[in-house]
Amino acid sequence: MQDVKFIVTQELGKLAKWLRILGYDTEYHGEREVSDLVIRALKGDRVLLTRSPAFMKYTGIRVVRIESDHVEEQVDQVTRELALEFSEEDIFRRCVECNVLLEDIEKEEVRDKVPEYVFQTQEVFKRCPQCQKIFWQGTHWDMVGKWLEERGFCSS
Ligand SMILES: [Zn+2]
Repeated sequence: MQDVKFIVTQELGKLAKWLRILGYDTEYHGEREVSDLVIRALKGDRVLLTRSPAFMKYTGIRVVRIESDHVEEQVDQVTRELALEFSEEDIFRRCVECNVLLEDIEKEEVRDKVPEYVFQTQEVFKRCPQCQKIFWQGTHWDMVGKWLEERGFCSS
């Protein structure tokens, strides 16, 4: 995966979740002043993703003006413009809500914390150190799996 971090504006919350699932460090703060987001992008060396024209006048930050309303096409655009790559190891490394890296957790520890069928069928579990939510490979697969397969990033 590329060494690139993102900050996305209020209207792109779904895109932020996708980028996190795909492994990319993505800040999302909901409603914020334009100047505040610009400063955060500068300080954090983050590419700013937005549908708003308000950011185009700022120099010194990289802005990608997102064209589509549909999250799949938004991810396509970011992937194209920044030549992003994905690998199966990078997926599900990051909490979709908190944007922090997940930690490994023993299977035995999740016995009472995940649905029975998940416990029976999954071997690898991870936990968010911030919100304590437990993740496994299939957690978001319904959402991003098809997208990844169609673009040849994943075989499974
Ligand atoms: Zn979390």
